[in-house]
Parts: sequence; structure tokens; C-alpha cells
Amino acid sequence: MKSAIKALIEKEPTSLIRRAFLFSQNAHEGQKRKSGEPYFVHALATAEILSSWHLDETTIAAGLLHDTVEDTGVPFETIKKEFGDEVAFLVDGVTKLGHIKYRGAVSKGIEQNKAENLRKMILALSQDLRVVFIKLADRMHNMQTLAALPPAKQKRIALETDEIYASLAYRLGMHNVSGELQDLAFPYLHPREYEWLLAATKERYATRLKYLEKIKPQVKKLLEDHDIHPLDLEIRAKRYSSLYKKLLKRDMDLERVNDLVAMRVIVATVPECYATLGVIHEAWRPLPRRIKDYIAIPKPNAYRSLHTTVVGPEEKTIEFQIRTKEMHDENEYGVAAHWLYERRRSGEIVSGKKLAQEIAWVQQLKHWQDRLEGNKEDPEEFLRAMKIEFFQHRIFAVTPGGDVVDLPEESTPIDFAYHVHSEIGDSATGAKVNGVIAPLNHKLKSGDVVEIVTQKGKKPSEDWLKFVKTSMAKDHIRSMMRKRESKRWG
Ligand code: MN
Repeated sequence: MKSAIKALIEKEPTSLIRRAFLFSQNAHEGQKRKSGEPYFVHALATAEILSSWHLDETTIAAGLLHDTVEDTGVPFETIKKEFGDEVAFLVDGVTKLGHIKYRGAVSKGIEQNKAENLRKMILALSQDLRVVFIKLADRMHNMQTLAALPPAKQKRIALETDEIYASLAYRLGMHNVSGELQDLAFPYLHPREYEWLLAATKERYATRLKYLEKIKPQVKKLLEDHDIHPLDLEIRAKRYSSLYKKLLKRDMDLERVNDLVAMRVIVATVPECYATLGVIHEAWRPLPRRIKDYIAIPKPNAYRSLHTTVVGPEEKTIEFQIRTKEMHDENEYGVAAHWLYERRRSGEIVSGKKLAQEIAWVQQLKHWQDRLEGNKEDPEEFLRAMKIEFFQHRIFAVTPGGDVVDLPEESTPIDFAYHVHSEIGDSATGAKVNGVIAPLNHKLKSGDVVEIVTQKGKKPSEDWLKFVKTSMAKDHIRSMMRKRESKRWG
């Protein structure tokens, strides 16, 4: 693969990215991954993925450095001194996200709740969407190389990827990223179904691909004859994970899935999208009820495209998806693309259409935000700053095992202990926060890893009532006090 990062470095030898590249290479020197590859390969791959999402150089530099603090012992202060506050902030955010682990849960209800909490925590901890982008790129490469890990770990990471990260990417409109993560997790989560699907669709995929490759020049010529010059004609196979979901709804009948492979036409403008549709319909008969105008009426997730299925040459059906480059990028990269276009046009006048689009984005995020917290923050401001502020009155701390505890601001280790388990709260004698001994009234911050030291038979102290924040902790402490009193008197 051609390295976009190396090309960037050659173009601009004094850049931030070059410095980050050399620093990371040096810091990871001698480290190996489970696969036996040098560790730096992972840092570089993460940065390559970020660059393919068109993210800015600060994010790419932070991608190169994302494991240096956690895995090589480079002090955080060094990153700050060498690369500035912004890069350091991003690296710190990714490091904190690394402490969270998701294992699913026994009952379905709890599982959904837990997954939702975790997604909330990831956003809260990140504070900046770029931290999420780096984490997604990091996870993408880890999933691509998951085969090197032991099976139990593979399962846990695949589950976490599917339920937390793919779903987070989806909510951020990053459909390509979400789909790819789901596809990477699928063989680990459903190995038998995956094998079956692979065998059952191999020929069908091959036949469809061959057919579309054959007619691609015809489509190109047809459009050019009508003075439409597509920027790209892409043949697009349906992902296994999404095909599997569709098949579950279609009695596992492959005959009933006709968008196994589609052709994507990318053009310059919206009028060209409609002109393309017209030319295609004139040449080949469209199937009824298969024409979808998601440009005039975008999907609720803001997806925009024209879809149609026609009877093409040799009487075979073809699904076309027609869109502009910008729609394409937004469909695939969601918030990340939005951010790109936002940067590109800073200084330009924002047209009415752009504004409408922007509002569609804001609406989507706002809807999500409302559902999560009922927060009344101004969503437009939130989007502009790309800061995630809707959890500012909550903190999310982590157990040493990676479980998340959701607490109000200014909570203490005692609040944390009671939220993990009442017995842990009752018998707490001390706490370690991020590996360092801390007083029981210490104010926790999001991302803190909290370990509670307990002693059997120890009872809660009345003094704790002076500093605990949560009613859960207060109730437990009071009830233990009452028990003690009644024993004393009775
Ligand atoms: Mn990593």
C-alpha cells in the first residue's frame, strides 16, 4: 500500500506529522505486537486510516503518538512540550479511552443499558470528536490484525467493536467506518454463519462483479454521450455483516436480495444526479417501487443519494446509487466529512443549501443528544466547536477491570465504591486513583481508574456524609448508622 503519511512527510519535511512520525518510531523502537510486527506499524496504520478520512494534521500527529504515553512510558509532559497542548490533549483522551472494557452482560436489558452508558462515557471522556476518530482508527487497525490474539480476547474485542464502536461510528454518521468495523467483527462473533455466507455467496458475488465490470464502460459512455462526466463509477459489493442482517429478515433466501452488488455513480452537482437518473431510466427500464430519492428526502440518519434498480443488458438487474462527491463523503465519513467541509469553506460564504445540510446534521446530533441527557445546550455551538459538552455535569470513572461507573460531578471514591457494590462501600478503607493512593474525599475526574481498598468487617464512617455526593452512598451510610444505633440500644 502506498503510504499517504510518507507522501505527506516528503512534501513537507518540517511538518508536525514528520516530527510525530520520528518521535513515535523512536519511542516504540524494539517493541513488538502480538503478530510479531514492530509496534510502530500499528501507530503508522492508525495515522494512515485518519488521513484516509481526510482529518487534519493535528489529529494525524496524535494518531502517530496515540500509544506512546501508555505503552512506552513517555511522560505526558514530554508530548505537551514537543507537540503542544492540542496534540497532547488528543493523546491523553485516547489513552483514557484505552482503560474502558466492555464484556456485554447477562440480561438483554442490562446489556443495552450498559452499552449505552459506555457510548456516553466514550463521548464524555473524549470531549473532542477527534479523540473518537483516533480511537476508531486505532480500533480499525486492531480489528484488521485481531487474528494474532488468543480466541477469548478476540471474542471480547469483537463484541466491544460491534456493540460499542461500530454503533458509535454509526451514530456519528460514519457509515463506512461502522460497516467496516461490523464486517471485521462478524467472523469472530458468528464464525459458522460467516463460513456459510462465504460459501453460499461466493459464486453469486463473482458473477455479479464480473457483470458490472463488463457494463461499466457502457454506463460511462452512455453518460458521456449525454455530456455527464462522472467523477467516479464505483462497483460496490454489499458487506457480509449487512447482507447477513438482511437475510435474517428474508428467511435466509439469497434470491430475495437484489442489491448484492451495486454501481455507484459519483457526479459533481445535484442537477447532474437527476440528469444521470434520467439517462439511465431512458436507456434501461426501471423496476417499480425501487426508485428512491434520498436527496429530496434524506433518510433520518441524513443519508443522501438517488437509488434505482433497472433491467440492464442481458435482462439482468442493476442497482444504481447516484450522488455528489460531498454527499458520498458525508454518507461514508459522517461527522468527520462534515468537519472537513466545514474547514474547507471557512472564510467562504455559506450557501443556503449548505446551511440546510448543516441543519440536518445538527438535528441528527441534537436528537441523539436529547435522547441521552435531555440537555439544553445549544447544539449548533456544540457542533461548531466539535466539543462534546453534553455530559459536563457527569463524570465517568473506571474500575481496574475496565467497567464504567457513571457519577455526578465532584463524586468521591466512596461514591464510586457504593456504586460498584454496597459491600465495597461499607468496607472501604482507602482508595487508589490512577495507581496513586488518594484520600476518600478526593474529587474524581472522568477517566480516572479507581481501585477501592477494603477490609472485612470494617464499618462506614459518619464523617463520609460530609463529602459524599450521591444519594446512593448517603442512603447506605445512614442505614448502616441506624443499624449500629439500634444494636447499641437494643
Ligand atoms: Mn493503539
